[in-house]
Amino acid sequence: MIVKKLALPIILILIALYYFAGSSNPPLIFPDPKTSEYSLPYPSGLKYELFQTYCENSGHRNRLAYDFEMPIGAEITASRSGVVTVVENSFSDEDHTTGHNNRVVIRHADESLAWYAHLKQGSIIVNPNDSVNVGQKIGECGNSGRTGSVPHLHFEVFREHLYNYSDAIPISFNNLMGKLDTSGMLVSGEWYQSK
Ligand SMILES: [Zn+2]
Repeated sequence: MIVKKLALPIILILIALYYFAGSSNPPLIFPDPKTSEYSLPYPSGLKYELFQTYCENSGHRNRLAYDFEMPIGAEITASRSGVVTVVENSFSDEDHTTGHNNRVVIRHADESLAWYAHLKQGSIIVNPNDSVNVGQKIGECGNSGRTGSVPHLHFEVFREHLYNYSDAIPISFNNLMGKLDTSGMLVSGEWYQSK
């Protein structure tokens, strides 16, 4: 009898917990762009469309990553100074297998790691252990890996654990001209010029 009486409240509590857990992502807090150590990852004066922002359902579900749509061969520059830790340059730009993205990873002074993905085969001009300065060319945009056949740069920064999506952190850019949402996040479909 007591079990029966308790059953409904327990079920309601479980449902409430389920929904609470499902919506408990902490709000994104973007650092002040003026003091950010990150620049847009392309040369000053150029302007590209953001085609996918953070945590969009299509390809960035629960992921803190930006996709800048660029033509194949567009110059990609280091967003922040650091040391190159990973270079993968061997995949064809027609190879859209997940994980087959040509890429550069740069470790910053605070141990965070920036991942630049979908670069053009053979375009990467830095090597592991190279020191790179912000704004320095590292390679060119390509179409390798799971791009949805849209050539673009996937840019994501991890606090410490590379490719661990839950360890990615919100990034602001110190030289960005363009619209941000109220949280400071870049908006899909908007164009962003590098100052
Ligand atoms: Zn992406």
